[in-house]
Amino acid sequence: LLGTVAYVSYEVWDSRNPDNQVIPDPSKKTLVILGTGWGTVALLKKLDTENYNVVVISPRNYFLFTPLLPSCTTGTIEHRSIMEPIRTILQQKKAAVKYYEAEATKVDSERKVIRIKDESEIKGTVSETEVPYDMLVIGVGAENATFGIPGVRENGCFLKEIGDAQQIRKKIMDCVETAAFKDQDPEEINRLLHMVVVGGGPTGVEFAGELQDFFEQDIKRLIPDISDRFKVTLIEALPNVLPSFSKQLIDYTESTFKEEKIDILTKTMVKKVTDKAVEAEASKPDGSKERITLPYGLLVWATGNAVRPIVKDLMTNISAQKDSRRGLAVNEYLVVQGTRDIWAVGDCAVAGYAPTAQVASQEGAFLAKLFNNMAKTEALEDQIRDLSSTLNLKPGNAADIARQIEDYERQLRRVKDIKPFHYSHQGSLAYIGSEKAVADIAWFNGNVASGGTWTYLFWRSAYLSMCFSTRNRLLVLNDWAKSKIFGRDVSR
Ligand code: NAD
Repeated sequence: LLGTVAYVSYEVWDSRNPDNQVIPDPSKKTLVILGTGWGTVALLKKLDTENYNVVVISPRNYFLFTPLLPSCTTGTIEHRSIMEPIRTILQQKKAAVKYYEAEATKVDSERKVIRIKDESEIKGTVSETEVPYDMLVIGVGAENATFGIPGVRENGCFLKEIGDAQQIRKKIMDCVETAAFKDQDPEEINRLLHMVVVGGGPTGVEFAGELQDFFEQDIKRLIPDISDRFKVTLIEALPNVLPSFSKQLIDYTESTFKEEKIDILTKTMVKKVTDKAVEAEASKPDGSKERITLPYGLLVWATGNAVRPIVKDLMTNISAQKDSRRGLAVNEYLVVQGTRDIWAVGDCAVAGYAPTAQVASQEGAFLAKLFNNMAKTEALEDQIRDLSSTLNLKPGNAADIARQIEDYERQLRRVKDIKPFHYSHQGSLAYIGSEKAVADIAWFNGNVASGGTWTYLFWRSAYLSMCFSTRNRLLVLNDWAKSKIFGRDVSR
């Protein structure tokens, strides 16, 4: 018994303490991966790390399951439930992978080095250095688009990272508690309890739905005296919300929002933001424009993606990227146009698909297959070359060697025959509040559109199954049960 306990303990200890400080093998190429998002983590999951000296660089030392991020803003889900440490992910690889928590600030494609910067919060120091690469995968994602609209960065909250969700959660409660303060001015109560969401894409819609749920299910019950003042307004520049969904689901979402008392202002473009109000221009049915001012307590800005500075900088240094606007233009093998050894995945790459998690993870999995095949190809070519050179030296074994060469050549043809990247769309899902969701699911050659409570259960089970690990799945299930039974935690 003691022997078994000792053995199991050693196994656990050993699996938790892999040799992370491996010395790079000079016979292998160095593959540097920038980012720890959907694309790069899908790549790491399937990559055979024994073939390369793999180095991962990202300022975020965890993978974030972004589809459930809106649920963190109200406490339906606690933020750690949707985070998976990159160290845990890398520990599961056969050969050790180096990880540097740092921001890549520049890619020098001439010298084949990446400049990285680490800001230590504890020491308050900044360290900068360079990392050389033979092959590079850029998966740094995108930043929030503001279109240069004044006041957005200073006054609005975004919804991309864990820190954003935490900030929103605090701000909601700050607005609510300040509105409930003794002898608060009625006009100020209205302003504080007006939650404005700009951008009617899936992020804005899901957040508005979660926010209204939080209010209906928890805040109303806990602070009834302000309950008739809380209001959520969603502003969208286009004629309707969720433009990437089918017409039927757009109508369903808009009518559900009406029932939930969420105001939708379509054909309304925000032009300016101050610390207390949003100024917008609404297009009227007769074609005329009207200026409107909406006082707000919380402003969440969800108007899509913009290119990150490191990507912009690389694009300006590669002439083949001159015409690309939305990110790094890649070919059908995800190679950055104008380069031979740089690949891009996810929201920073322009491959002709929407910037979604689904696209990014399929791209990452494709690259893993490509790199595994490239390593196999090189190994087979080396073996063929070695055998061919021995052919004349060992005349007695010539027939055997020739047969072996033929066999390797057959294998080589098979691994070399890798098809270009093809995205297979499984469908789109979005939560719209009051335990309803919409789904546009790819079904054989067509699409099935559905909305309502059953779709919500499907949405929950789909997202649960997509969570990164069993640990994440259990935590999310626990959070759902906890907020259903005890209500959401409204402490700040
Ligand atoms: P988005 O690009 O899908 O939508 C942004 C919206 O903001 C647009 O409809 C645009 O018209 C509007 N807008 C821009 N400027 C405006 C202004 N000044 N005033 C008012 N409205 C303005 O952005 P997103 O929702 O963050 O999504 C980004 C990407 O991620 C998309 O490809 C989306 O499909 C994907 N995504 C998908 C899901 C899901 O499937 N559940 C969830 C989140 C994000």
